[in-house]
Amino acid sequence: VTPSNASKLLARIGSGTKRIEVRTSPAGIEPYLHDEAVRSSDPAAAVLFPRSTEEVSRILKLASRFRVPVVPRGAGSGVAGSAVPGKGWIVLSLERMNRILAVDERDAVAVVEPGAITGEIRKAVEAKGLFYPPVPGSVDLCTIGGNVATNAGGLSAVKYGVTRPYVLGLEAVLAGGEVIQTGGRYLKHSTGYDLTQLIVGSEGTLAVITKIVLRLLPLPTERMTLLAPFPSLEDLTGAVLAILAERIVPPTLELVPRGAVRSVLARNPDISFPFPESEASLLIEVDGADLPSVERDVARLAPILERCGSPDPLVAFSPSQRERLWSLRKGIRDSIVACGPYVEADSVVPRSQLPELVRAGDACGARHGLETISYGHAGDGNLHTYFLKGTLLERSWKSASKKVLREYYERTVRLGGTISGEHGIGSLKRPYLPIALSGGEIQLMRGIKKAFDPYNLLNPGKLLP
Ligand SMILES: Cc1cc2nc3c(=O)[nH]c(=O)nc-3n(C[C@H](O)[C@H](O)[C@H](O)COP(=O)(O)OP(=O)(O)OC[C@H]3O[C@@H](n4cnc5c(N)ncnc54)[C@H](O)[C@@H]3O)c2cc1C
Repeated sequence: VTPSNASKLLARIGSGTKRIEVRTSPAGIEPYLHDEAVRSSDPAAAVLFPRSTEEVSRILKLASRFRVPVVPRGAGSGVAGSAVPGKGWIVLSLERMNRILAVDERDAVAVVEPGAITGEIRKAVEAKGLFYPPVPGSVDLCTIGGNVATNAGGLSAVKYGVTRPYVLGLEAVLAGGEVIQTGGRYLKHSTGYDLTQLIVGSEGTLAVITKIVLRLLPLPTERMTLLAPFPSLEDLTGAVLAILAERIVPPTLELVPRGAVRSVLARNPDISFPFPESEASLLIEVDGADLPSVERDVARLAPILERCGSPDPLVAFSPSQRERLWSLRKGIRDSIVACGPYVEADSVVPRSQLPELVRAGDACGARHGLETISYGHAGDGNLHTYFLKGTLLERSWKSASKKVLREYYERTVRLGGTISGEHGIGSLKRPYLPIALSGGEIQLMRGIKKAFDPYNLLNPGKLLP
């Protein structure tokens, strides 16, 4: 990209009566040069803030004409580097397109713009007795467009699944500016290739999403939270498998190991955690349409937990009690990130293999002299593993951080898993994609990319190696 490409685009964007908001100053661009894991030192040419599909289309037409790469962006809360621009690119921020256009109770769908904050959508539909289940840990921060583009998971996937099954239709703008509509306000279809689901999880590399039709469920109004300490990871995983085998399907089964607890407590003396010495704790959330059914599930959980090594779980009923049980889990990522440089993996394996995956992380970290802290979604077999630089010298860290990830991802795949459960590939995991996918699969994906974006202008260099 030469700077002149982008300046030709910007000259055309600025002309005309309806001006799109443009930022080109270093201070204006700076907040858009990073996500939560990657910071670019290369300046983008500009950040553009369209307010309508027509404006997105206009920008992409010009980007195609002048061959300027474009990265769509939601809230920048991603942790794979996928929303980070390269030098001379345009950042297309969807944050001004943030309206909840409709919540349709009859068809149980919501129609939203991509910049709407996921937590706001959840509140808006709950006010009408409906439920949008996916709840990433960043729910009050991230946008629904970012969730769709990464196929975000989160804290309720055991029972409700991730973002994908809730996306019924999209409006999207292709790299050349053409607007397409995929799917619609219906629950199923068998009408050709499923373009909606192809765009879900495509990390801004196939199209810019400008409208989303979301599937909604009836709102479960009652909830209880349990915290169960276990003497070992095997016992905890055994409990997860036993709970599901007994046909209790809680939305949430979260793994909180001792290392993660110590990390939070070391930095947050105000947070209390009832089981700081147990090897691992399981945070369980049970929900339902009425209190008796939730109480029934909790009563059925007790003997299972006891059998699996946790006879005295804590049970929280009120929102404030529940919040207290959640507080440590919610602080884990921040406390780890505060420890200094790290690399993070987001592996997913069959849930029965979780203890093996935790041990693989510890072993890989130890081999390179790195502290390892893991936590994650036990019910999904999805583990967030952080390898910390600690006191390692910069030069050693550079090579160790790459080697440790490669070894860990190889172990993940040998355990029957894959290298991203929910955060996506972006730029960080891109070199490792061949560990998870065959050459044939990657070629097929390249062909799909080319069909959507022949000049490779939408978020180039992300996802595909
Ligand atoms: C504290 C914390 C907790 C988190 N917890 C979770 C979790 O539980 N589960 C989980 O899955 N993730 C989690 N994340 C990661 C992150 O929040 C998700 O990946 C989220 O989906 C990103 O949304 P965003 O709006 O910030 O998107 P961004 O980071 O801005 O972008 C992410 C990707 O989406 C693309 N994109 C954004 N908008 C559009 C659009 N309109 N059209 C096309 N492409 C688009 C971007 O190009 C980029 O590739 C967490 C992050 C943090 C910081």
